[in-house]
Amino acid sequence: MFIGHFGVAMAAKHVAPAPSLGTLVMAAMWVDLMWPLFLFLGLESVDIVPGVTRVVPLDFVSYPYTHSLLAGALWAALLGGVYYALRKDRVGAAWLGALVLSHWVLDFVAHRPDLPLWPGGTARFGLGMWNSMPLTLAVELVLFGFGAWMYARTTRARDRIGSLSFAGLLLGLLIIYMSSVFGPPPPSPEAIAYTGLALWLLVAWAYWIDRHRTVDSHQAFAGSAHA
Ligand SMILES: [Zn+2]
Repeated sequence: MFIGHFGVAMAAKHVAPAPSLGTLVMAAMWVDLMWPLFLFLGLESVDIVPGVTRVVPLDFVSYPYTHSLLAGALWAALLGGVYYALRKDRVGAAWLGALVLSHWVLDFVAHRPDLPLWPGGTARFGLGMWNSMPLTLAVELVLFGFGAWMYARTTRARDRIGSLSFAGLLLGLLIIYMSSVFGPPPPSPEAIAYTGLALWLLVAWAYWIDRHRTVDSHQAFAGSAHA
């Protein structure tokens, strides 16, 4: 799951209008943003195995600290807690926690059974959506399209950058996604980790977008938006 996570983050602006899109994206992608660090530290590992699923050629050998359900819940509590301490926004904090946890749920749908419930647990879970190319494309593109639509109608561009940066991100994500689905497998686990680090640039891009857009208070569900 890749652009599906972005879709959920963009849609969340409707119910959590106060956090920046950058913060929402960071929450929805949090465990993937942490993953390269754990790969570099040697605490988690991944192998490249073309054909292991139809869509994604990766064997997630071990990733308990980022992708177990328990780790997801703890990261969710941490991110929600830090946001609440900084902003005193209960609604935003709760939604950010839910976004962190939504990552595990979406990965559970997409991955073959390789997700543990807790570090050290031996059972592995995953519904294996990645074994079907049409199903994967349909689900991810619908989530992504829905999220983009929700963010576009919950916010308004303040200036030209507010429209262009948003359109640019959508286009950029689609290109990255299509080239990862239809392109060659990554050359090495190190390359995967470096690509993972580059995800932080997308978080920065989302902050940039959000600074050039304003919440349309008639559209936001919570109504009480403040920057
Ligand atoms: Zn993930």
